[in-house]
Amino acid sequence: MSPEVRSDLATLSGYHSAQVEVDVRLNTNESPFTLPAGYTERLLERISELDLNRYPDREATVLRSGIAALHGVEVAEIFAANGSNEVIQSLLLAFGGPGRTTLVFEPTYALHSHISRITGTTVIEAERGDDFVLHADHLAGVAREVDPDILFLCSPNNPTGGTDGPELVEAALAATTGLVVVDEAYGQFADTTALDLRDLPDADRLVVSRTFSKTWALAGVRLGYLVADPSVVAGCFNVVLPYHLSALTQAAGECALAFNDEMDAHVAELVRQREALWSEMSGLDLELWPSRSNFILFRPTSKGGHDVWQDLVERSVLVRDCSSWDRLDDCLRVTVGTAEENARFLEALKEAL
Ligand SMILES: *Cc1c(COP(=O)(O)O)cnc(C)c1O
Repeated sequence: MSPEVRSDLATLSGYHSAQVEVDVRLNTNESPFTLPAGYTERLLERISELDLNRYPDREATVLRSGIAALHGVEVAEIFAANGSNEVIQSLLLAFGGPGRTTLVFEPTYALHSHISRITGTTVIEAERGDDFVLHADHLAGVAREVDPDILFLCSPNNPTGGTDGPELVEAALAATTGLVVVDEAYGQFADTTALDLRDLPDADRLVVSRTFSKTWALAGVRLGYLVADPSVVAGCFNVVLPYHLSALTQAAGECALAFNDEMDAHVAELVRQREALWSEMSGLDLELWPSRSNFILFRPTSKGGHDVWQDLVERSVLVRDCSSWDRLDDCLRVTVGTAEENARFLEALKEAL
């Protein structure tokens, strides 16, 4: 008899996103830009100075200080980990777990409920309204009833693209007694951020998570962080494995912080590209949702979503097939790429439709 996994995990399946060899890869919301000139040299120099025979700084103080300076907060308010997924896992290990509850509003980022379940946390799935907009009174009603240990918002929301704005964060804090986590993996693409709400009276329960994977073009490094009250940061340090952030990861993040202006320029360019792509797509046989992010959710109206996805793959363009997800029948999600990539996508899409 082979060993069996925990019975509460038996029906879960791992994270899946098709990895197909194509010319134009617009499926995982990565940055289409390579790193700024000078980044790699700077990183190699830093790495050559490291004592790799020694364990890294457990607290990643230099990196966390740099992130704190970026946001004008204290180093004690920053926790960093291997991608914001590990940040979320640490939060759930410390503040979720058996007997505790998270509240999510679907459709949203699948990993919030997935990691909750892996950590034995009960998940309550509520719904977003029409057009995937979350209204403050609906949120407050559900949140008051559930009073979750952790309430997840996602701004901009993956995969739908709109923001969960400040009024929702305020409503969530007012209606609950637990943590309110705002996943801002795409926060730089939007014009609102929950970081502006940190002087609210209840802000000691507000957690904002960010990642180097998307805007910073460092998905391959695996680095994310949260900004929160020092007590939340201390809770995460209690549960994370010792030396979880390698010296290489810390160095990669530290060097990236020196290129903040270049990253901002890339964000501005992608916002321009998003607006151009959206207006081109709005002329086609598609239902389209507004986006404040670096991706656009759309539904072909003349043909099945999965068939369009397949036709795009045949034209060497990969987008995300969301057509089997709840409430997203026939929907696809395209990441905003460079002007050339977007043009290739549009050409292939027109043919596919
Ligand atoms: C991509 C994404 C992340 C990033 O995860 P990393 O582990 O930092 O790469 C987190 N949240 C959302 C909503 C995302 O789409």
